[in-house]
Amino acid sequence: MSVFSSTSAASVTPVTSSTGYTGRFAPSPTGPLHLGSLVAAMASYLDARAHQGRWLLRIEDLDFDRNVADADRHILHSLQRCGMHWDGEVSWQSQRQPLYEQALEQLATQVYPCSCSRKEIADSRLRAGVAASQVYPGTCRTGLAPGKTARAWRLRVPDGEAAVFQFEDRLLGAQTQDLASEVGDFVLKRADGFWAYQLAVVVDDAAQGISHVVRGADLLDSTARQCYLQQLLGLPRPAYLHVPVVNNADGEKLSKQTGALAFDRGDNDLLQDALLPAARFLGLHISPSANNLNAFWDNATAAWAQQIALHQAHQADQLHQQQKQQP
Ligand SMILES: [Zn+2]
Repeated sequence: MSVFSSTSAASVTPVTSSTGYTGRFAPSPTGPLHLGSLVAAMASYLDARAHQGRWLLRIEDLDFDRNVADADRHILHSLQRCGMHWDGEVSWQSQRQPLYEQALEQLATQVYPCSCSRKEIADSRLRAGVAASQVYPGTCRTGLAPGKTARAWRLRVPDGEAAVFQFEDRLLGAQTQDLASEVGDFVLKRADGFWAYQLAVVVDDAAQGISHVVRGADLLDSTARQCYLQQLLGLPRPAYLHVPVVNNADGEKLSKQTGALAFDRGDNDLLQDALLPAARFLGLHISPSANNLNAFWDNATAAWAQQIALHQAHQADQLHQQQKQQP
């Protein structure tokens, strides 16, 4: 029996967390929630509940070209219909832009203007024989070419060993990325004037006291960049856990672009249509008797806590085996 299974519905959404755990779900308002986004939301919600922590909701609406009118309102409504209750006020990144400006100023000595268009970057990769690479070739690192104007602002990544970032993923274990060879100097403020995701997410996670980030594995690749920004800005590094992403039949990540459908059609049964399939995807065994939202969440929270505990025990066991094999 899990220690979390006795958690009552009333005690799971405290205004302040006695455990120091603060998690969050941070959807972009580019359309209604689909099963893929629900899986990420569910994982972060269950992890917060299992830790008796807080769960915040942040709307990541900085890409004004992709925002869809009213999508944020629909997302909030769907979460409520699912019985997922967030703590405190919802925040919108579009209302927090002075914070990002401040962070950019703080990084001034490591940031430089870049005049490159997408095509110029692709061309210089081609010339360097690394056409398939996603790495910025560093064209503007030593200053803009004469007659060129700044389009974006890039952060200089370290060279050599200082570029290698390591972090522990609670599910996937030790992760390593060499920012110099795998990422290159990355954009903090985009050519269209919008704040880049990497900067905003780091600033907000710290400002909101996020201790645990639980999100989709499509963002695993961003984590080292975020660790580097945390280091430069003197911000704490949260714990990370990345859950698998849901793919469609063609093996593409579910998204609005790949035609993912809203799971909330207004009057359908979200327990059957959305919550149980998302829990199944996360490998959670839900008792057939959990036939209402409260019972589902109690059941799912216990199952999540048990799964995490088993996983940690397995990892500790593996570490122990490795240590035994060393002379
Ligand atoms: Zn450039």
